[in-house]
Amino acid sequence: MREIGHFIGGKHVAGTSGRTANVYNPATGEVQAQVALASVADVRAAVENAREAQVKWAATNPQRRARVFMKFVDLLNQNMDELATLLSSEHGKTVEDSKGDLVRGLEVCEFVIGIPHLSKGEFTEGAGPHIDMYSMRQPVGIGAGITPFNFPAMIPMWMFAPAIACGNAFILKPSERDPSVPLRLAELMIEAGLPAGVLNVINGDKAAVDAILADPDIGAVSFVGSTPIARYVYGTAAMNGKRAQCFGGAKNHMIIMPDADMDQAVNALMGAGYGSAGERCMAVSVAVPVGDDTADRLVEKLIPRIESLRIGPYTDEKADMGPVVTKDAYNRINGLIGKGVEEGAKLLVDGRGFKLQGYEEGYFVGGTLFDHVTADMEIYKTEIFGPVLSVARAKNYEEALSLPMKHEYGNGVAIFTRDGDAARDFASRINIGMVGVNVPIPVPLAYHSFGGWKASSFGDLNQHGIDSIKFWTRTKTITARWPSGIKDGAEFVMPVMR
Ligand code: NAD
Repeated sequence: MREIGHFIGGKHVAGTSGRTANVYNPATGEVQAQVALASVADVRAAVENAREAQVKWAATNPQRRARVFMKFVDLLNQNMDELATLLSSEHGKTVEDSKGDLVRGLEVCEFVIGIPHLSKGEFTEGAGPHIDMYSMRQPVGIGAGITPFNFPAMIPMWMFAPAIACGNAFILKPSERDPSVPLRLAELMIEAGLPAGVLNVINGDKAAVDAILADPDIGAVSFVGSTPIARYVYGTAAMNGKRAQCFGGAKNHMIIMPDADMDQAVNALMGAGYGSAGERCMAVSVAVPVGDDTADRLVEKLIPRIESLRIGPYTDEKADMGPVVTKDAYNRINGLIGKGVEEGAKLLVDGRGFKLQGYEEGYFVGGTLFDHVTADMEIYKTEIFGPVLSVARAKNYEEALSLPMKHEYGNGVAIFTRDGDAARDFASRINIGMVGVNVPIPVPLAYHSFGGWKASSFGDLNQHGIDSIKFWTRTKTITARWPSGIKDGAEFVMPVMR
């Protein structure tokens, strides 16, 4: 059995806890590796390596730091097929989809190649008599990132790329479900020229997360995962005096106005609802057609498309989607479909009981469609995180708008329409962080920032874009007066400029 450990000080190490977790192949249900679950001592070893490496790394000029990322981007491209296949083997999604996961992370690495410019400070000459005032951005020191299973390449890179480019050392605690790609990324960063100890990977569960949150040498924590854990990590990190940004779950709606191009809307819903088996925080899980006529036309077109989805293992190059990640996820999603039926939603396509010949033990859930879902139902309120789309009909635009407005989550939302006025009104009034106009998954590119509102995000700075540079640095402002400007005698009044 393959054993997966940690990556500390530029080396693979086994870990000291004696605890491990299974890593499955979701397509077959087989255990393919054992991953070490870190102890407090393992986390501490990573922090000590990071502390030593960080001082020298922060003193490395920003152009040299940028060059590591130039090389790393090359290495990612060269190793793309191998990385994507490895990712799919543990996550279950198609290899093409895994390439998307990698490329979206790679783009953040391309963005931070601009770090010499991005991290420049500000300068005011003559802020007072003989006084110059300037500010600089300095790294927080050691940063930590705790990441979910669903994007094991992109989300680690969202975090470690800006953190490291800014001169921090980094401790990454990836999901224990698919730990291999994060470890490969750390190896490739060393190959790209990153000094050992600047990027460390600690595998583990709650114990490792709690050790990170308690460690006095870690200055900033970035988390992406489910909302209850995001809330916990944010609260604990803040209480321990750390800077924190924590991103949680989602329930993303797509409004379909009566004037929308229905074929476009259906294509968008297929990709956004069922791509990656619905295991994306920006997946669309609620379609809100406006008016019964729109709803009837939508549902009629969706049913045959969902019934003909090609579901397969990652080795099937033509598959539209793969299995869900674990047996637990499989059971939870099937249970929620049952709950929807009990609650009175109309089940139009039932994905339960889907079996793939030769992969009977795999965690495959078929594409599922509910109609007449209402806001009081559990399947509407809960993030299902599976290939289940709910149609919640709205009588008019105002009712459609009010559904995502009132929902607990606020990650992404979309409107499909040809009416510019409606789209503009929607974008302006909606209380959600990322909005698509005829774009179902409005994930911002690396040079803009990613983040939801409401229970989808805790903290004030987003992932990537300028926000990430702000998050991983602290501002220091210097006021300097040179001797020729210094008057004799003490000044007792508050200095002001008039
Ligand atoms: P998760 O919350 O179970 O795990 C996330 C991380 O937290 C993992 O590293 C895990 O080891 C750790 N963890 C789990 N339980 C913990 C505990 N009790 N205490 C401390 N740490 C713990 O999430 P997941 O199942 O890996 O990922 C899916 C979730 O992530 C979904 O809710 C999805 O919406 C969300 N997500 C959000 C975004 C976003 O940007 N908002 C992006 C991707 C995924």
